[in-house]
Amino acid sequence: MLEDKNQSRTSLEQLGEFGLINHITKHFKASNKSTVKAVGDDAAVLEKTDKQTIITTDLLVEGVHFDLSYVPLKHLGYKSVVVNLSDVYAMNAQAEQITVSIAVSNRFPLEAIEELYAGIQLACETYHIDLIGGDTTSSTKGMLISITAIGKADKEEIIYRNGAKETDLIVVTGDLGAAYLGLQVLEREKQVFKVNPNNQPDLDNYTYLIERQLKPEARKDISSLLKDMDVQPTAMIDISDGLSSEIMHICSQSNVGCKIYEDKIPLDPQVISTCEEFDIDSTMVALSGGEDYELLFTVSIADFEKIKGNPNLSIVGHINNKAAGLNLVTRAGQELELKAQGWNALENK
Ligand code: ADP
Ligand code: MG
Repeated sequence: MLEDKNQSRTSLEQLGEFGLINHITKHFKASNKSTVKAVGDDAAVLEKTDKQTIITTDLLVEGVHFDLSYVPLKHLGYKSVVVNLSDVYAMNAQAEQITVSIAVSNRFPLEAIEELYAGIQLACETYHIDLIGGDTTSSTKGMLISITAIGKADKEEIIYRNGAKETDLIVVTGDLGAAYLGLQVLEREKQVFKVNPNNQPDLDNYTYLIERQLKPEARKDISSLLKDMDVQPTAMIDISDGLSSEIMHICSQSNVGCKIYEDKIPLDPQVISTCEEFDIDSTMVALSGGEDYELLFTVSIADFEKIKGNPNLSIVGHINNKAAGLNLVTRAGQELELKAQGWNALENK
């Protein structure tokens, strides 16, 4: 529905593989000290440092991870980078380089790839990341994007999922559930558009939700915020699949249980009003929605005073012993077991 039917179309065959690679990468300038050689040779070269290296990869498949009928390609490029950087930041590391590999069918003209790379470039500039390489190939159907992000951190600063201890506080950054609701709004508009293509959607009430879905940001700021507050989390993970499944990862890897308080889960007012309109439970959305790309971490209870009152951070619960299990305390004071899907956990509410 966002496609411009009048835009020019240059076929990828006209350019050839090398022409295409040169065309899409020529505007990128590497600027990190650790990048010795970026795109252009057989392989990239990075400077050796005394820090540890953090590497993470994501593969995104059209029709599985994204739907181009409502996701503009520039946003897709931006988001594809951001979701990778989020994993680096979740290790409490600094991201510095990415590689980008794409497979595209002949349905895509050069202009589409330019849009995708405009988004990739914007993310690189915003987060100060160098594009150092990738691969380009054809696919018989649809688009695939694979991005690898590379970062670094001092050995002592890296935060794993397995360090949470009994009595630790559980903290989340920002607010939860908006990205999932943004997707629901976009899906609804897509269905309306199918029935009546002349219908102009009124999305004013959902701007925050749609932005969180189409243009998420990774929490690059949290590492320095924690450093300034003199807080070293004991475990950390980024929230890509919803609070419920992420806290389960921390608990299983740390061999502990937890208690999450429903009334402490941070929600934007637009999430609350849209949940009412769609008649869904906002807690379920926060627990199982996903794609928020906020950070979830645990800190020693001794850090309570430092965390408390920070507008970026919400204390949502605490770590328990393993035998106590993983529980959600509802607003009514009822304790429910957190299941792999928050939706199931709330079924008997
Ligand atoms: P090779 O044949 O050795 O794989 P390529 O011709 O595929 O080399 O790539 C040439 C250069 O362009 C390399 O530096 C490679 O990393 C880079 N490159 C290729 N495809 C992409 C892409 N989609 N995005 C960014 N860089 C790319
Ligand atoms: Mg290649």
